[in-house]
Amino acid sequence: MRTSQVLIPTLREDPVEAEIVSHRLMLRAGMIRKVAAGIYTYLPLGLRVIRKIENIIRQEMNRAGAQEILMPILSPAELWRETGRWDFYGKELLRCQDRHDRDFCFGPTHEEVITDLFRREVRSYRQLPLNCYQIQTKFRDEIRPRFGLMRGREFIMKDAYSFDRDEESARVSYQKMYDAYERIFTRCGLNFRPVEADNGMIGGSMSHEFMVLAETGEETILYEEGGTYAANVERAEVLPPTDVSTDQPLPLETVSTPGMKTVEDVCKFLSLTPDHLVKTLLYQTPDNTIVAVLVRGDHEANEIKVNRLLGTTEIILADPEIVTKVTSAPVGFAGPVGLKNIRIVADQAVQGMKNFVVGGNANDTHFLNVNCDRDFQVETFADLRQAKAGDPSPRTNAPLSSAKGIEVGHVFLLGTKYSEAMGANFLDDQGKDTMAIMGCYGIGVSRTAAASIEQNHDAKGMIWPTPIAPFHVHLLPVTNSELVQETTETLYQSLIEAEIEVLWDDRDERAGVKFNDADLIGAPYHVTIGDKGLKNGVIEIKHRRTGEMVKVAPSEATSYLSQHLASL
Ligand code: ATP
Ligand code: MG
Repeated sequence: MRTSQVLIPTLREDPVEAEIVSHRLMLRAGMIRKVAAGIYTYLPLGLRVIRKIENIIRQEMNRAGAQEILMPILSPAELWRETGRWDFYGKELLRCQDRHDRDFCFGPTHEEVITDLFRREVRSYRQLPLNCYQIQTKFRDEIRPRFGLMRGREFIMKDAYSFDRDEESARVSYQKMYDAYERIFTRCGLNFRPVEADNGMIGGSMSHEFMVLAETGEETILYEEGGTYAANVERAEVLPPTDVSTDQPLPLETVSTPGMKTVEDVCKFLSLTPDHLVKTLLYQTPDNTIVAVLVRGDHEANEIKVNRLLGTTEIILADPEIVTKVTSAPVGFAGPVGLKNIRIVADQAVQGMKNFVVGGNANDTHFLNVNCDRDFQVETFADLRQAKAGDPSPRTNAPLSSAKGIEVGHVFLLGTKYSEAMGANFLDDQGKDTMAIMGCYGIGVSRTAAASIEQNHDAKGMIWPTPIAPFHVHLLPVTNSELVQETTETLYQSLIEAEIEVLWDDRDERAGVKFNDADLIGAPYHVTIGDKGLKNGVIEIKHRRTGEMVKVAPSEATSYLSQHLASL
């Protein structure tokens, strides 16, 4: 393609609204343009990358035995009411009405629609296993759309859904998708890691997220260096503590702690380390009950674990007014001693502590030498804290390391959550009506493109992995001489014949401008054709990733590039 004939509106300046590098570079390279918050148009360069990722996904899905379908973007509210998600999904679900006032939503995911298809069309175990996928635009009205394609409101997703006759077969389907995901992200040229994940709103019993490792990632991963265990920090299990105190309980004391509202303040004031303190966090459940969650002073509560224990979905920290009402003290002085009619749950680390410090439920007051059972009752001890780097791996005890990641894919074993709610049954080999076991599997196609940039760029621009690069070769003639033009034209034709994707910068621009744009766009190879070189019978090929330059005869350039591209 010739630059003059493609819409590639590159920008010299960094767009002010872009906070992360992928967003900035995609705007600067003219790959995307914003239409509204979290809603973008893909320009030719951007769309080429998206299509390449889609093709890799399509090939691997087909290879894994999944079949492509295309479901509608709009789906009727009735289906969502059957599973309860019409209410449960909240504001992220964008709703609308048709001219007959019927409720619809823009699909954020398609479990309801596919399960409806299944219950209508599948009768017998002979039709199983079944796995259908689509690559389609999704809509989620995210509270904070940001970072360009990374967290859009409208975005492209591949979603697949499997139906199996029993749990064992469902696990086989799950593993096939897991393996396909490993192949997909490997083929996209990404440095990624599958991690154990929480099932969240979608439900089910087992799940893994595929994380592209990048500093700007919103997710934290804990993993064993060189080992197999890796988990999203939301999910990572903490082993019960080994250090159980054998100290004798001392008499409870009250101490004045004027203005000491944080763990740090109290520790400094009392000359203690934070592991001698217990924090009391007051949470409000969706039905407005208050639950006190206790964690050691140097630990953080993990709300997902607390939700799981309580059987709730969305606890929030109680408002300051409520804290004051419940504890008779401002925030910072809550404690479990003397709390009336409030459920108290505690992290397992608290169970092994003796003579610790807690808030005194009165302004500027703490209690010293507090002990469970004697001074207050805990309803349940459980793993409720956030795991952190240095904690022992729940599998091997080796210390965990932490890294940042971008979630590009997610696989879930759903079980019968949707088949039960919607009656997705089939007749088994005994003629018995049986519920299908489901799995669902998503890949953020547009997010994958952005994640690749987060991982592959330098100060000058993007550095595309060849399999998803918008072009393989950028041809850069640097003068208008006849020789340069002719050589470029011949090379252009020869590259096309060799099925190498080439972008020819045929604009009447200074060499510097062309070089800058080429570095920005980040095709793997840049070919500079100039009079000086041609005088010596050579043109120059630059490897974008390494900066390595080689000089070759124009007639040899195509075979040089073919060889290098084939080796990737
Ligand atoms: P997140 O926690 O990032 O919101 P999610 O858990 O809601 O993601 P899933 O429901 O598992 O995501 O969706 C499948 C995939 O779709 C995700 O792994 C991610 O790659 C992609 N995705 C989800 N939300 C967005 C979004 N707002 N913009 C772009 N891609 C998204
Ligand atoms: Mg989400």
